[in-house]
Amino acid sequence: MSAPPTAVSSDSSPAATGAAAGTASTEAASQDVTFSLALTQDQKDIREWVHGFAADVVRPAAHEWDEKEQTPWPIIQEAAKIGLYGFEGLAQFFADPTGLMLPIVNEELFWGDAGIGMSIMGTALAVAAIFGQGSGEQIGEWIPRCFGTQEEVKVAAFCASEPNAGSDISGVRTRAKFDEAAGEWVINGQKAWATNGGIADVHVIIATVDPELGARAHAAFVVPMSEAKGISQGTKVKKHGLRASHTADVFLDDCRVPAAHVLGGKDKLDERLARVREGKKAKSQAAMQTFEASRPTVAAQALGIARAAYEYALEYAKEREQFGRKIIENQAIAFTLARMKLEIDAARLLVWRASWMGKNRIPFEHAEGSMSKLKAAEVAVWVTERAIQILGGNGYTREFPVERWHRDAKIYDIFEGTTEIQQLVVARAISGMYIK
Ligand SMILES: Cc1cc2nc3c(=O)[nH]c(=O)nc-3n(C[C@H](O)[C@H](O)[C@H](O)COP(=O)(O)OP(=O)(O)OC[C@H]3O[C@@H](n4cnc5c(N)ncnc54)[C@H](O)[C@@H]3O)c2cc1C
Repeated sequence: MSAPPTAVSSDSSPAATGAAAGTASTEAASQDVTFSLALTQDQKDIREWVHGFAADVVRPAAHEWDEKEQTPWPIIQEAAKIGLYGFEGLAQFFADPTGLMLPIVNEELFWGDAGIGMSIMGTALAVAAIFGQGSGEQIGEWIPRCFGTQEEVKVAAFCASEPNAGSDISGVRTRAKFDEAAGEWVINGQKAWATNGGIADVHVIIATVDPELGARAHAAFVVPMSEAKGISQGTKVKKHGLRASHTADVFLDDCRVPAAHVLGGKDKLDERLARVREGKKAKSQAAMQTFEASRPTVAAQALGIARAAYEYALEYAKEREQFGRKIIENQAIAFTLARMKLEIDAARLLVWRASWMGKNRIPFEHAEGSMSKLKAAEVAVWVTERAIQILGGNGYTREFPVERWHRDAKIYDIFEGTTEIQQLVVARAISGMYIK
């Protein structure tokens, strides 16, 4: 595989990347950059390049790593060598002014395989948190460390969830206390289901600095595994799908990090806490900012899985004969395939709209980010289930990839906000009411 086509100016300044991360800003909307459904040559070139990697490197390895249930380090390294995994590649995708490059890249990569795709893209959630909340200095210091080097690749983890704080992230109990004498943060708690948890070099930990203030006192801390004492990996989770991606609990036991490791800086955090204590409005929570930013990108991953299953089922239906004719000649099968295609295309339009809005700082007034993730997840689960049906007995075996795609698709109903929580967010946005 060759290096990436040079597509867009890689303006990786904090402002550019923060906006690119899709944060729904309350700033005045700037609608200068439009997108067209006819992709630019740059976008087509990058899509083709990622597709080539997904087809030649990722998909052939998918079954093996799913069975092994291990992080596919050699493939992450391959991705690093061609520039698909790394700070510069990600900054280049972020910099596309339409916001479409990131969903395009994710759809293609996850078309190859979602478990391997998540091993490559899992780092991006921690990166989005550092971009979105870190100072310029912190971005410069920590983002390159999230990826390591081409020779020695690293991954990063974003740890918000806890055993008792999943959908309700305000329930985070991990506590960060500042030790004035030592000038260090002391963090204690347990994180659950962290992608790359324990195997990452950089861990971004969401913790509360004042439990009485609830989510308004959440802050994000950078904890480097190689330097900080008191951070360790708990049980590695055995999963239904996405099995090439590592998921584990992370324990923080009197874990100490320097004062400068709180994203945004301690002064800013102190200012924010003072505002909250005075009863003034605080900006949105540290974890929620990251999730809002990443939802359309995650939705694009689900689309990639759905498209893989649809394409496979279509080809199979054109080949397989029963009752002396191709099974696609039956309306039951052909109409199902038609609906699969229709649902995938409809979901993609929602994903591209949300990505464009996020990049151009157009507020998600009707929770467009959540809409995109909700729709793409449901489409991926439904399409992959239908693909199994179209393949019949073969679809149910591990000899064919559709059962893996179905297992992989299901997580998109759950992480980064469950389907129920996305509906809650949309319902609140459209009604202006506090729906429970
Ligand atoms: C493979 C995998 C990778 C993950 N990676 C990460 C990661 O990298 N970082 C991280 O921080 N977390 C990660 N997670 C955690 C994930 O974000 C949570 O599992 C998810 O937010 C749901 O939380 P929960 O599992 O506690 O479910 P719960 O919150 O207990 O929800 C259980 C059920 O109740 C429903 N429910 C809850 N509240 C409501 C409500 N108010 N109204 C209606 N229904 C409701 C939910 O929709 C769901 O159906 C990962 C999880 C998995 C499985």
